[in-house]
Amino acid sequence: MFLLVNRKSQIVNSRVPSFADELNQRLATLREQGLYRELRRVDSAPGPRLQTGGKTLLNFSSNDYLGLANHSALKMAAVNAIEKFGAGAGASRLICGSLAPFHELEESLAAFKQTEAALTFATGYAAALGTLTALAGKDDVIILDKLVHACIVDAAKLSGAKLRVFDHNDLNDLEAKLQWADAFSKAESGKRKAEIFVVTESIFSMDGDAAPLREIVALKEKYGARLMVDEAHATGILGRHGRGLADALGVSGQIEIQMGTLGKALGASGGYICGRRALIDFLVNRARSFIFSTAPVPAAAAAAAAGIQLSQSPEGESRRGQLKQRVNELLANFQFPISNLTGAIVPLILGGESKALAAATQLREQAIFVPAIRFPTVARGAARLRITLTASHSAADVATLARALASIRSPQSTIRN
Ligand SMILES: *Cc1c(COP(=O)(O)O)cnc(C)c1O
Repeated sequence: MFLLVNRKSQIVNSRVPSFADELNQRLATLREQGLYRELRRVDSAPGPRLQTGGKTLLNFSSNDYLGLANHSALKMAAVNAIEKFGAGAGASRLICGSLAPFHELEESLAAFKQTEAALTFATGYAAALGTLTALAGKDDVIILDKLVHACIVDAAKLSGAKLRVFDHNDLNDLEAKLQWADAFSKAESGKRKAEIFVVTESIFSMDGDAAPLREIVALKEKYGARLMVDEAHATGILGRHGRGLADALGVSGQIEIQMGTLGKALGASGGYICGRRALIDFLVNRARSFIFSTAPVPAAAAAAAAGIQLSQSPEGESRRGQLKQRVNELLANFQFPISNLTGAIVPLILGGESKALAAATQLREQAIFVPAIRFPTVARGAARLRITLTASHSAADVATLARALASIRSPQSTIRN
């Protein structure tokens, strides 16, 4: 009996490839498609120069737009928080992990964004996931811009709500989807049963263009929908004191759910939601990624609070001014196909995955690091170099980049002179 079972299981095993073989097969497919990714060990602190593999590269890939991640004020705040509150929070926020630095951060975030309240999460990803799944369920509708970040797509799917996608920044298509959602939610009773959520970014992460937030606000008001805007790439950069694009356009008071990350221009780590007190209290009760997760390290909260303070200081203004100047210097050298680039992201869309990879390799040979962004981060066949500039770059750094880019010609980027 024993032998029989043993022999049988051997036969089964010989037919099924080992787990590693199976995965290696899938990895080989990714390689063939030019979609294989691997980690690059970096041996230096965040900044315009990056040490990797024993080489120093000029770095145009960081989201540390104001150059705060390695700023002494943020590091000092983190060190002080560690001294006073320890290395780890020890529990979730709702148990005994709600350490003072989180409350101080949330108060300064609410004041910065001029909202009643704020809540922070371990990451922006966790903020999106916790918020949309708490607010929307199977009877609700979520309408997304086609190019929103993966965390919003994942959150919307996980919520179980009906999903509709509108063409990128296309107001007519958004209105069509809102009409559909309105009819859908009134179908049975004639009364609105469901909530309709519209979710978009302010500055898009891979295209660098801005959403028409005023017009989107007008549309969501017309249809009684709620609006969530992810300001990951505008917070710290646009608006008064770096409050974001919604502030710059004067519509932040009409956006029910204001989301962002503390890990980009603000130089630290974490995600946030700002809005009415009722929204924040609701998320504390219902956002699973907030409730069922150990509170972040207090050092991250203290550093983020210092980043927010810096963003509102004269130094913050001057760093934003430098960033804007660097972006203008780069744009003066090239005609980029995307017109409304107002942040720090400058994409050079090359098309094929291998073309983007080859361009990135060519730049790396000139000691310049610009990542090739490919599927699934962007659509297949829309691979690109995603250039990000920061306040820490010098005019000479940008000139070096512009010269190197001139050697990578493509149909979609017209190079002047
Ligand atoms: C980076 C990013 C996030 C995620 O924020 P993390 O704090 O890095 O998890 C969310 N939305 C957009 C648009 C982003 O670019």
